[in-house]
Amino acid sequence: MINGYLPAKRKEAIVADGKPGTAARSIQGEQQDAEQQGYVKASDEDVDLYVDRVSDDVIACRERGRHLFPTIRQAGIHFTGVDDEGLFLRRLLCTCCRLAVRVEKWEAVRRGNKTRFARVTSGLEYQEGPGGERYLAPSGRGHMTPRQIGDSVASKALAGQSITALRKAVKAEAKQAKNA
Ligand SMILES: [Zn+2]
Repeated sequence: MINGYLPAKRKEAIVADGKPGTAARSIQGEQQDAEQQGYVKASDEDVDLYVDRVSDDVIACRERGRHLFPTIRQAGIHFTGVDDEGLFLRRLLCTCCRLAVRVEKWEAVRRGNKTRFARVTSGLEYQEGPGGERYLAPSGRGHMTPRQIGDSVASKALAGQSITALRKAVKAEAKQAKNA
């Protein structure tokens, strides 16, 4: 399976599982929701501009199609607030882009002499970086897929090369590797 691409059937299954606004949504999941709702894909030009503007860490999360949140063992379990319903709030920063925050709500229930904790909802928020960096592209310009980000990064890395020369070089290198 190509990274970032899921067959149609699998897409439906993921969307059906997720409850928008409550369940934890991956970036991919958000994009799949968007595609189903008929949102437009961002243009290659817009993706190129975005890739130039953001940090490598942000590109990494975009290309991967998901953020890297620490595990409970890594981050510990610390609550930062309590909501009106008495649910405990927990906030986790993506260890890669450091702009995405997963906001979780935890329920604590007393059963006999034991307390059981359960994560009931989680959502994503984006914060501005210390230098004013933003994760989200300007709205209304379409959605960027992980594949589009990868294509843009690759095209920039290989910019200015002749395709014929590149083919020749790759073939020569492959031949050399085979003979080695
Ligand atoms: Zn991230």
